[in-house]
Amino acid sequence: MKKVVFLIFICGILYFSYISFSDNNIKKLTKIGYSKNQANLIINKVPSKYLEKAINIGYSEKLLDFIDNKNNNLKEFEDFFNNINNNNDKDDDKNHNTNNNNNKFKNKAYYIADNLDRYNKYYNENPGMDLNLIISLVNVNADYKFYTNVVNTDLDKDLLILVNKYNKLPSNYEPKNLVSLGDYGIGKMIDVAKEAFVQMAEDIKKEGLYIKSISSYRSYSSQESIYNRYVKIDGVEITDTYSARPGHSEHQTGLTVDINMVEDEFANTKEAKWLANNAHKYGFILRYPKNKEHITGYSYEPWHFRYVGKEVAKFIYENDITFDEYYAYYLK
Ligand SMILES: [Zn+2]
Repeated sequence: MKKVVFLIFICGILYFSYISFSDNNIKKLTKIGYSKNQANLIINKVPSKYLEKAINIGYSEKLLDFIDNKNNNLKEFEDFFNNINNNNDKDDDKNHNTNNNNNKFKNKAYYIADNLDRYNKYYNENPGMDLNLIISLVNVNADYKFYTNVVNTDLDKDLLILVNKYNKLPSNYEPKNLVSLGDYGIGKMIDVAKEAFVQMAEDIKKEGLYIKSISSYRSYSSQESIYNRYVKIDGVEITDTYSARPGHSEHQTGLTVDINMVEDEFANTKEAKWLANNAHKYGFILRYPKNKEHITGYSYEPWHFRYVGKEVAKFIYENDITFDEYYAYYLK
């Protein structure tokens, strides 16, 4: 009997040391910029002997892509971390040559001089975080809590209007030129966006694939009742992670469409893959891409597309940035 008690005791100690070990690593990973889900994914997928390396390289979208949906073997991990280190060394050399003052942000893409104090503040609060990520987060205001520092969005931006957790539409805002999608699915869109969607639906049909709208324009009041219904079930905190507050839904712009199904599995369909690679040719962007949740404030939504016109859509697609980042740097 004593032996059994002793064994349980030992198992308990092992269990708790494992929990505090992974807790500790989750803390380290979230500190360098990963979300809790991403940190858990890394802890589950990256072998423990490489975990420290994963933390030392800082926030890395390459790592997230590398482990996503795959079971990599040890050799692949070895190669991955060797490659990353080599590339980082090269980057460091470049910075030494070009950066001869103290401003470590200045030579980075999308640097905005007015934001320098906030970059530094965020860096001090999150030492080791990737500098490019800090620039992205601060540029889109994500150094502030969601739904704080909210401003009325600039309606003059027209087809490039920005709606997110910091930029809202007035409750009486209703876009002009809304037209019904008819045979192409549920709801209404602004005429130019509808025309682009129709063209896209016709072209994907030639590939033997099929898309339709399952949700498009939503008025302020309909978003308000959707949001309030969820709040009754899940409370504000959880609801805010998946549903927009009224005035903050991009669906109120009439430029947005949810395609085929609002389910994570949609990402695995041929339609979703085609859209991810071709929608920009019609002026649409995947508005909430994978691994950009810190920046957009939304989890990956493979079904949610936003019309911004061909030129901007192409730029965003080719440069792999979000609309929030594009807006902050080029349109604000
Ligand atoms: Zn949507």
